[in-house]
Amino acid sequence: MKPTLQRPVVPELGRSRMVGTPIMPSVVYAADDPDALDAQYEGGGAGYTYAREGHPNADMLAQRIDALEGMRGGMAVGSGMAAVTAVLMGLCRAGDHVVGGNQLYGRSLRLMNEDLPRLGITTTLADPTDAQAIAAAIRPETRLVLIEVVSNPTLRVADLDGIAAVCKAHDVLLVVDNTFTTPRGIRPAEHGADIVLHSVTKLLAGHSDVTLGWVCASDPALMDAMRVFAVTTGMTASPFDCWLAERGMMSFDLRFDRAETTAERLAAHLAGKPGVTRVLYPTRPDHPDAARAQGLLKGHGCNMVSFEIAGGRAAANAFARGAAGIAFAPTLGDVGTTLSHPASSSHRAMTEAQRASLGMTEGFFRVSVGLEEPDALLAEFDAGLRAAAETTQSG
Ligand SMILES: *Cc1c(COP(=O)(O)O)cnc(C)c1O
Repeated sequence: MKPTLQRPVVPELGRSRMVGTPIMPSVVYAADDPDALDAQYEGGGAGYTYAREGHPNADMLAQRIDALEGMRGGMAVGSGMAAVTAVLMGLCRAGDHVVGGNQLYGRSLRLMNEDLPRLGITTTLADPTDAQAIAAAIRPETRLVLIEVVSNPTLRVADLDGIAAVCKAHDVLLVVDNTFTTPRGIRPAEHGADIVLHSVTKLLAGHSDVTLGWVCASDPALMDAMRVFAVTTGMTASPFDCWLAERGMMSFDLRFDRAETTAERLAAHLAGKPGVTRVLYPTRPDHPDAARAQGLLKGHGCNMVSFEIAGGRAAANAFARGAAGIAFAPTLGDVGTTLSHPASSSHRAMTEAQRASLGMTEGFFRVSVGLEEPDALLAEFDAGLRAAAETTQSG
């Protein structure tokens, strides 16, 4: 094809095929004529028109996550919070009521506590480890229940099957944010979730270089409603980000398994150390939800470990500085291990008493385990613990 005007020259591939996914950043797509465009809008023809309404890289990414979750027709959006918002604001109207888990991701809690009530949607938070507590929160006008399977940062495990039964009995939609557990740990649709969502930013993309989300409803009418809302409010995922995420997902299973194995080892290692007052990992026998985790996660755990050290903020500061090879950064799911301190980051808006009631003291840390060589990683934690111990001895 010869170059004409300001139009792309698309190479002929002949009898060869691509083995990598191409990036298609085009915002607009040309149609042959008005009839062709009509057919496309009426769903009779395949194709794209304008990237905010959908583009090939978003679709390729969404299909890959659909396959992992065992669902169909999911949508990629610009962030995990866009996915949460597409559900809550795309499916609820003023007068509706929403039940949320009481330890949801911080921004999801903010939506529940601040933004939905402002728009006339009332909300109740309840403990998702107790299906009866969720049942008690449901009202005649309840539209949906939003939970995470493993909570952040205390790693409590929701009674997913119990809550699914409650939702079915009350004809209420069950929405599961599967970011922490990932489809490697659990496929919520198989447990009765009507809608599943992800922050793709975290383990699925896995390299801390994109923010993206994904959401899928098993009912196509619900999916349409969310899609229209996402297109209208501009939740578009960038083609380049979708491409990066798809590339990251090629190694998702391997990364998850490696991080999970190391996380188990780290939890066992920390549990035996002086100065460590508590270790939380969902499948450890001393975890309050260990039996449920074994059943739900089918032998899997997760890549997250939380722990508490003695000595308060001074020891926490010393630990973070002493474990210098570990990024002190409030994210999760990266190839590198990251350490976060809820009291100074994700849960800083709470009072100390509120945090204490959830078990989050000044010495409490959450670790997202990455792909480092495990012995080298454990040595970093040991260095952090030695530094923390010095502060408690000298102070
Ligand atoms: C990070 C996260 C989100 C939000 O995702 P973003 O991509 O940061 O917008 C939602 N839920 C959970 C459980 C998360 O960890």
